Amino acid sequence: MIDIDIDRALKTFLDLVQIDSPTYEERPIIERIASEFETLGLPAFNDCTGRDGAGNLHVRLPGTRPDLAPLLLCAHTDTVEPGRQIRPVVRDGVVRTDGRTILGADNKASVAALLEAARTVVRHNLPHREVDLLFTWGEERGHAGAAAFDASRLRATMGVTLDDTEDPGHITVAAPAYFSILARFIGKAAHAGAAPEQGISAIVAAAAAVGRMRLGRIDHETTANIGLIRGGTARNAIPGTAELEGEARSLDNGKLERLVAALREAIETAARDTATQLELTIKQEYAAYRWPESETIVAEAVAAVRRCGLPPSLRVSGGGSDSNTFNEKGLRCLNVAIGMKEIHTVNEHIAVDDLRKTCQIATSLITG
Ligand SMILES: [Zn+2]
Repeated sequence: MIDIDIDRALKTFLDLVQIDSPTYEERPIIERIASEFETLGLPAFNDCTGRDGAGNLHVRLPGTRPDLAPLLLCAHTDTVEPGRQIRPVVRDGVVRTDGRTILGADNKASVAALLEAARTVVRHNLPHREVDLLFTWGEERGHAGAAAFDASRLRATMGVTLDDTEDPGHITVAAPAYFSILARFIGKAAHAGAAPEQGISAIVAAAAAVGRMRLGRIDHETTANIGLIRGGTARNAIPGTAELEGEARSLDNGKLERLVAALREAIETAARDTATQLELTIKQEYAAYRWPESETIVAEAVAAVRRCGLPPSLRVSGGGSDSNTFNEKGLRCLNVAIGMKEIHTVNEHIAVDDLRKTCQIATSLITG
């Protein structure tokens, strides 16, 4: 069994979550991660594809076991809001916040685990494979950092992201494709009391569009949502503009194409029926993936989990990760679970024991 210094790993995690890193504001966190690796004698390369000097941080751990194929291990550095001035609290073996912010275990528990795994391997001179450690920016905005990363820098052709909320031991071998939808209806503003005849309500158009949509769970592998609606200027004004933001996901690329076509039809029909102008942006953010049990990366992940004394469990996820984007680039990646809970809420938390297991799994993936 791999011996992890959980106190050191926990301290790293608590330090990292106290460095603010909302998406696009990730320079301080990557500078900290780079300095931690440099302490281990491992130089870190910043590709500067982010904003304000931030970027994807790439660290190569040279291998001592040429019998093992190189592996990519990846965590993301950005967090969602409210994610500033995070104050972590450790109570009863669980790390939480003071209730004002998210915790950022998504994904700093994995950043800490990868750091701890590298320290364990380097300081104990454990035989290990060659590893590309990658810390991506902008994962929470359509995997922007992973999309911008030049994968030809990697020695690895397969890899693992550590960015799933199930308990450690779960391995996501399939994840859905994702489309984002932004619809802007442009009507005509007018005074609602004095001259309503002169107005064309963009909110009525947006509402009509939503009314024509099938949303929520479409089938066992397909979902759709309108998550944001914006529009209007005042209670007494016919709203001149209104916007809808939504998404559609499916594990089946064909089903997703048909669903997106139906959503487009709903929006365009509503605009036509209400005589509003329409600016519509529908964009595929990433494609689906599904790996069979026979795939090498699945076998590698299963073996790594087993070496930690955990029962591996293969699963299909409803959410995406940087793995979707790396797979589009021709790598073979999947996502492993770290036990972070209630992510993207102020109740986000992670058990110290799950952080320990995540450190073990990361180390086990490196040592092979
Ligand atoms: Zn994440």
